[in-house]
Amino acid sequence: MTEQKTPDLLSSLLPLRAEESADDFSAAAHDHDAQHSLREASSTPTAESDTPAQLTPLMAQYKSLKDQYTDCYLFFRLGDFYELFFSDAVEVSALLNLTLTSRGKSGDGRIPMCGVPYHAVDNYIAKLIAMGKKIAIAEQTENATSDDGKDGANKPAKPAGKNLMARHVVRIITPGTVFEETLLPERQNNFLMAVAMSDSPSAKNEKQMTVAITDVSTGFLAVEGMGLANLSSFISKWSPAEIVVPDILLKDEMVASALRDFYEKITPEAMAVFNKQRAVEMIQAQFHVKSLAGFGDFSPDELSALGGLLAYLKRTQIDALPKLLPPKKIDQSDFVSIDRASFQSLEILSNNHGGGRAGSLLELLDRTETAAGARLLRERLQQPLKNVEKIIARLDLLQFFVDQQKTSNDIKNHLVALPDLSRALARLAVKKGGPRDLAAVAQVLAKIPALKNTLRQLLPGGERQLSTADKNPDGVVGQLLDSFPDVTAVKNILQQALRDDNLPLLPRDGHFIRPGFRADLDAINNQQKEKRRQLQLLEQKYRQLTGIDNLKIKQNNIWGFYIEVAARQADKMAKHNIFQHRQTLSALVRYNSAELIAMGTDIERGDNQSLALELQIFDELVAVVLAEHEPLMATAHAVAVLDVNQTMATLARTQRFVRPTILAGNNMAGEGGGKLLRLARARHPVVEHALSKQANHFAANDIMLDDKKFFMLLTAPNMAGKSTFLRMVAIIVIMAQSGFYVPADEATISVVDKIFSRVGAADDLARGQSTFMVEMLETANILQNATAQSLVIMDEIGRGTATFDGLSLAIAITEYLNEKIKGRVLFATHYHELTKLADHLPAIACFTMRVEEWEKKLVFFHELIAGRANHSYGIHVAAMAGVPPSVVARAGDILKELENKK
Ligand code: ATP
Repeated sequence: MTEQKTPDLLSSLLPLRAEESADDFSAAAHDHDAQHSLREASSTPTAESDTPAQLTPLMAQYKSLKDQYTDCYLFFRLGDFYELFFSDAVEVSALLNLTLTSRGKSGDGRIPMCGVPYHAVDNYIAKLIAMGKKIAIAEQTENATSDDGKDGANKPAKPAGKNLMARHVVRIITPGTVFEETLLPERQNNFLMAVAMSDSPSAKNEKQMTVAITDVSTGFLAVEGMGLANLSSFISKWSPAEIVVPDILLKDEMVASALRDFYEKITPEAMAVFNKQRAVEMIQAQFHVKSLAGFGDFSPDELSALGGLLAYLKRTQIDALPKLLPPKKIDQSDFVSIDRASFQSLEILSNNHGGGRAGSLLELLDRTETAAGARLLRERLQQPLKNVEKIIARLDLLQFFVDQQKTSNDIKNHLVALPDLSRALARLAVKKGGPRDLAAVAQVLAKIPALKNTLRQLLPGGERQLSTADKNPDGVVGQLLDSFPDVTAVKNILQQALRDDNLPLLPRDGHFIRPGFRADLDAINNQQKEKRRQLQLLEQKYRQLTGIDNLKIKQNNIWGFYIEVAARQADKMAKHNIFQHRQTLSALVRYNSAELIAMGTDIERGDNQSLALELQIFDELVAVVLAEHEPLMATAHAVAVLDVNQTMATLARTQRFVRPTILAGNNMAGEGGGKLLRLARARHPVVEHALSKQANHFAANDIMLDDKKFFMLLTAPNMAGKSTFLRMVAIIVIMAQSGFYVPADEATISVVDKIFSRVGAADDLARGQSTFMVEMLETANILQNATAQSLVIMDEIGRGTATFDGLSLAIAITEYLNEKIKGRVLFATHYHELTKLADHLPAIACFTMRVEEWEKKLVFFHELIAGRANHSYGIHVAAMAGVPPSVVARAGDILKELENKK
């Protein structure tokens, strides 16, 4: 969108730029009709090419700021606009489709310039942030009333070009450090990472990496260590908006290679900021503690990563660190390990065609009411658990919601349209919050009693009684009630202090404190009301005096108070020497008078006092809220937990999901020992949902793997449903270990430690890797890392090369998985020869999918049956796809010939 301004608006802007000489600044520079485009200009002057002496004072000021923030686009405040200059202007005007204009001179050419009005800047920043760009905001930091004429008619404007207003960079906005609602993805976290490398490699001689990770908008802060080989998967899993990396690390070829997919998200920083000692000091200062012992035992590498992260935050927030929760150590061993390719291929969070949410498991499951609930749901799917007790605890809670349907529905209704508490808190903590953020806190807190009451009704003496069959229901209710700390005092004060509606976004817009809350504010506001009444009387007096019925007293930012009449009435005004002329516009003439100046000055003084007091009260309220930061964050989490559970409970009913039985992986006692995977009438939730929309039925299937038969060899024709089945099993395991119910009639799963899913690889030509190379890289990863507790899914291995090479590889891989790895494996192949391996590898169970030929056509039942396929029916599928009949017939003849020869 191109910003266009009317000539009227442009002329009204002129006084705001009184600091610029006419030569130095032309407001008309924004009028793109009047400007030549510099985009085609042969040479673009750069800020670097000029010495400060050659630049005007304003441009020298610009350059001195720009020099400090070379990696950012500098938005330079000039009156009511943010301007960009030099190459920033050329690039940003192209990125945002703004008109590129010019101003002043630099060397041989004019200086490229583009700008956006200050009130619309958020939209433009949001677009640049979405493109991964960084922005520095330079504000006018002097009191603007002194020289931009904002107090208008009542004071003489300063002569143009005399004063240069002070400007400072007040904020750096980068993709990983945003707080604003408009800039944040609502239903997912916005992570910032910092990567550090250990001085000493691991025993296996692998480089050891440590990653600190935060979401400043929710306060999350954690640190985790890993080998270099896992770095890329880890980053993919968390999908950060930005990654801070010590610049010297990027010179390490292996590290650079691990980070190559995230190149656009990387912000290099000097190694010095990853300093361990400074990290300790910063963490101590941030959390007001003398020692870090209370947070856990952090290694020097963890401190280094945390230090880099905090130093970067400090730099971007211009020294005001956000309020973060104490750092957690993520223990990789708590979660199922799923590598990047596998996770993506299962379409858990995004689809495989374009990466959007449509068609992903998350899209199907995310029916949460609140943004925090959506984020928690996503986080759980992203990190399925390995610990049986923890999974069972989640399932117990979910079962409570499933069983207490009425309670679950009531909770859902209470959560509708609840604002985002943690993000409101984060903004308040970094002084970027406003009255609406305070109101958001109040609004969430106001709902807590209703939520708690809904739960309390289930307790003895409550309206609804729990059935005795419910598992320790008092315990669950008590635990949920306890998860809400008492923050009633904060709620009360906010409710008393804030007006009910029409709250401004920014504190400086005032009028958000409820009358009656503070006597001193009420006193000022009452006086102000009286003064404005007097102003109305003055207006009436002037109307009578001049005989101009539509004479008006008005106020604007530039002139303050003034008298306005239609141009044709000007001669009536001229008869009275109490009016002084201020301005003539095309149809209007403006005046002031000594009486109006006195009254206006008094009103403005009163308004300023009122605003100053409101701002002071705002700060006091923010302090009250932040003093309870931890309990409020706990409240936000408790709400998110309720939301995830009510969502999944509803899905369990509407989508017919069941509670899975989770067994310990190494539990050799009992049925199936440590490798049980038994699903009865299981369904692929996303495919089922898609089919149901077309009124089609999904064929449910069973699977049974255990210690004896842990390798399912699936040979079936094309289009029979192999891939769907394989993915379904992995998705069900992920859902179950995330603590969710699953789409099946029955499910029993001994926990898996890792999931590998090699289903169809695409060329990765950008990395110079062919389809087959990608396939083999993924296979190598599986064979090197899978364990007896892992779930391995392999679809069509060895198909990207010559038949005999592929078949040989498929056989060798099958043998290795059976004899060395011994994990649960689902292996689909068109190499029907592989089924012969079942004769001497006892863990192999051969399955196929039922298809029948009917009147020379294939009918797919998508039904898994024990047995082996003897045809691929590829030629039938080709015919179904519309391959010309002559080609199909010829292929049929060749196939017969080949089969005879064989
Ligand atoms: P190919 O070997 O050609 O890749 P495939 O055997 O892997 O095929 P899928 O891609 O899984 O087959 O499925 C083929 C089609 O059948 C898909 O459109 C899918 O929607 C449908 N389908 C798969 N499984 C089922 C099922 N259980 N019930 C109903 N439809 C199914």
